[in-house]
Amino acid sequence: MNLVLLGPPGAGKGTLAGLLVEQHDLLHISTGDLLREEMKNGSELGLEAKSYVEKGELVPDLLVTQLLAKKVKTSSPDKGYMLDGFPRTKAQAESLDEILNEIQRPLDLAVYMDATMEVIISRITGRRVAPKSGKVYHIVNRPPKQEGICDVSGEELIQRPDDNEETVRRRMDVYLKNTLPIVEYYESKGILVKVDGDKDSEKLLPELNDIFNEQAKLN
Ligand code: AMP
Repeated sequence: MNLVLLGPPGAGKGTLAGLLVEQHDLLHISTGDLLREEMKNGSELGLEAKSYVEKGELVPDLLVTQLLAKKVKTSSPDKGYMLDGFPRTKAQAESLDEILNEIQRPLDLAVYMDATMEVIISRITGRRVAPKSGKVYHIVNRPPKQEGICDVSGEELIQRPDDNEETVRRRMDVYLKNTLPIVEYYESKGILVKVDGDKDSEKLLPELNDIFNEQAKLN
């Protein structure tokens, strides 16, 4: 099973992806995580991407597509991939089709998680992440056992610098203008399924499992 997760920032893509990889043989590829890793390492690509990420703007298509292509092409073909945060523009969606045709691992599903603005703002401003383990928490909805500390790695949780209300509104504008049209792109290909991103990811998991089982029957 190869899929993309689509939806506005704060729709719960990362959290759902984390739950799905625990149950299915999937490799989670998040371009946001890949970019943050490049920025942390101070690579040329990371330095170029930094100013866009900090402002909540999109990193240029070419940069992010190259990063994604490298990751997908070097990933094990035994596992399905689950892309989170890519594609974000129509051009990226078209490039993705080319990359996947080349390696003959086409997309089976595009899962669209829609969510309301109220839920998005509350989720993002309360989000805390563990930089090393990648675990994602929420101060109210999904708190760690010990405040400010990751349950898995014991490291200190941080708030992403782009998770403030002003940047979230900017990211939302960018999403509506650039990313929402992709939903139609996948709908016209007949691989789009829509789920309610306002629901907690744990409640969505059984729905996703049903969708996966249906898809497995078709493959
Ligand atoms: P995310 O972790 O998916 O919320 O991404 C964080 C930030 O990384 C975004 O606000 C963008 O600045 C950048 N980014 C991540 N994925 C992409 C992409 N596919 N295209 C352009 N920019 C991206």
